[in-house]
Amino acid sequence: MRARTSRAAVLTAPYTLEIHDVPLPEIGEDDALLRVEVCGISGSDVHKFGRDVEPFILGHEPVGTIEAIGPVASQRWGVQAGDRVGVEPALRCGKCAACRAGENMGCTDTRLQGLSVRAHASLPLSLEPRLWGGCAEYMYLDRDAMVHKVPDGVLLAEAALLNPLASAIEWSVLVPETRMGADVVVLGAGQRGLLCVAALREAGAGTIVVTGLRRDAHKLEVALKLGADRVVCVEDEDVFDAVSDATGGTMADVVIDVTPNATQPIVDAIRVVKRGGTIILAGVKWGKEVPGFVSDQLVIRHITMRGVQAASSDSFAMAMRVLERGRHPLHLLHSHSFPLDRAADAIRTLSGELDDGTPAISVTINPSMEVRA
Ligand SMILES: [Zn+2]
Repeated sequence: MRARTSRAAVLTAPYTLEIHDVPLPEIGEDDALLRVEVCGISGSDVHKFGRDVEPFILGHEPVGTIEAIGPVASQRWGVQAGDRVGVEPALRCGKCAACRAGENMGCTDTRLQGLSVRAHASLPLSLEPRLWGGCAEYMYLDRDAMVHKVPDGVLLAEAALLNPLASAIEWSVLVPETRMGADVVVLGAGQRGLLCVAALREAGAGTIVVTGLRRDAHKLEVALKLGADRVVCVEDEDVFDAVSDATGGTMADVVIDVTPNATQPIVDAIRVVKRGGTIILAGVKWGKEVPGFVSDQLVIRHITMRGVQAASSDSFAMAMRVLERGRHPLHLLHSHSFPLDRAADAIRTLSGELDDGTPAISVTINPSMEVRA
């Protein structure tokens, strides 16, 4: 018999995560209940962790097994009870102007309180049926949730990479329309930067250069194992010289900035992109201005600069196929798993505040790691 409540990691105040027991909802014709097996932690969780927000359940990268599902939802998502699925962070009505235009996070439907961001782990705990986040034993799947079946044979630790891999595909391949043989620079060697390397190899990119800091030495090694041709420590080497060397002086067709906070990579991106090339900005700088940004460079050299956020359903579907084919050593990314009641430690490990000697790349919460008393 199923439990009547779900334990959930709730952010109640800045740097304060509490475990709450939340009643399980009744499932109707057009919704479902997910038993969460693993939930990835990302940089945006690190950012939210320190914010004063209305209490919500953390976690927007869940993978789990369908515990209960209504017939309408089952038909629409093509899944049944017992299937393992990955869930997109966004909730989309599919009918509003933003949804029809293909915006990833812009749905303006007002059914769920008219909230500005319709995404899991952004909806508050006070909104019924409350289980909106993935850092919980169970998660509610609203009719506007976007669900993808995990094929048999995909390991759980790899399935946990679905969300960041979808973003990597969106940012490095789909949005810049990266062609076979294109030379690409990825600025930043975190989880998403590394997954960009796998996505670019899958797409047939030419030379791939990845940058990082001295403290990223381990991640840059992983980048090479995933198929990067050249890695650059920006504290020891000039990025322009390294890219010029790697591309035989032609520079990059596409540059993707996935670094959080740092603004210098935006200036570097303009330096290393070729005339007519494309720069994708995917790293959020939390409102900072960019010193040294000279817009004339874009004008004179016909550079396209485009911002992206999150991923489309197409990218999620492609990410699932990449996981199913299993051509990339993605297991190298998995560094840490934590039980639910150590969700705060998971965030502090990803941010670098906690250091157990293993460099953090993919950090997950596994709600079944602990035994229920
Ligand atoms: Zn919509």
